[in-house]
Amino acid sequence: KAKDEGRNSCRIYTPKMNEELIRKIEIESDIRKALEREEFVLFFQPQLNLESNQMIGVEALIRWIHPTKGLVSPAEFIPVAEETGLIIPIGDWVLRKACDYLNEWKAAGIDNIKMSVNIATSHFKRRDFSENVLKILYNANVDGNKIELEINESSLMENTKDTALTLKKLRDHNIGISIDDFGTGYSSLGYLKSFPITTLKIDQSFVRDIMNNGEDRAIVTTIINLAKNLKLEVVAEGVETEEALTFLKSEHCDVMQGYYYSKPLPADQFMKFIN
Ligand code: C2E
Ligand code: MG
Ligand code: MG
Ligand code: MG
Repeated sequence: KAKDEGRNSCRIYTPKMNEELIRKIEIESDIRKALEREEFVLFFQPQLNLESNQMIGVEALIRWIHPTKGLVSPAEFIPVAEETGLIIPIGDWVLRKACDYLNEWKAAGIDNIKMSVNIATSHFKRRDFSENVLKILYNANVDGNKIELEINESSLMENTKDTALTLKKLRDHNIGISIDDFGTGYSSLGYLKSFPITTLKIDQSFVRDIMNNGEDRAIVTTIINLAKNLKLEVVAEGVETEEALTFLKSEHCDVMQGYYYSKPLPADQFMKFIN
């Protein structure tokens, strides 16, 4: 009997492994098709400068309009894209598309918005990354100061010589470098002095519960002061309430982004938001 059970559990386990593998392979081939069929779209989440009360930027956030599943969140497919290397063509597509929109908005008379674009670590780490970014901007005729790249702390953890060179090339063309989800990575703060960073983006996990949690308030205040002392811009993400906004203002946070101001919007709704 024990032998039977053993055999059974073995039989149950193997198909599960296959299922998981099959699911991944399916998503992978789905992503390839999605790129060909242009099923990806960009949404835009406005960013508000707290001093001037002006919208000064947007973060481009990818969405997948799947033919049968509908709107798929990046949390579902970006990890698979990273594992399979498909994040490279996706990331390039996002940057090209972001430039197209900047040109479209410029033609409509809106020329004072900076576009933040998320860059996966495996993309950032490629030898030709900076060259490729500059090529895309050049081809689209977009100035570097209109673009900010959001990278994670993990992008800055190793290979410091290449990393410094990549960042320098980007900064030489005035492209902004923002540390996304700041405070959540496995990080030493040393990179803040050796790398030419421009912006710290406080992770939303510290912001979400800011009015109920004294530790969160202490962390947010400390990050804002750190940014000020290092002459970096500081952005708070995940701002959902007026109380949070008031607190951030009182602490002199530069910029905020969150549902309280606006959710990420499709391009046409973003245009309406501006007007
Ligand atoms: P992220 O870069 O940290 O982006 C912020 C996420 O927080 C977005 O989720 C945004 O919709 C959400 N958010 C903004 N304000 C609020 C708020 O007030 N409350 C709450 N609860 N959430 C808020 P989204 O769009 O689902 O993206 C998730 C993550 O997927 C992003 O986190 C980013 O790491 C990744 N991602 C999105 N687009 C791209 C892309 O084009 N390329 C790459 N490599 N990654 C992307
Ligand atoms: Mg981001
Ligand atoms: Mg992120
Ligand atoms: Mg973030």
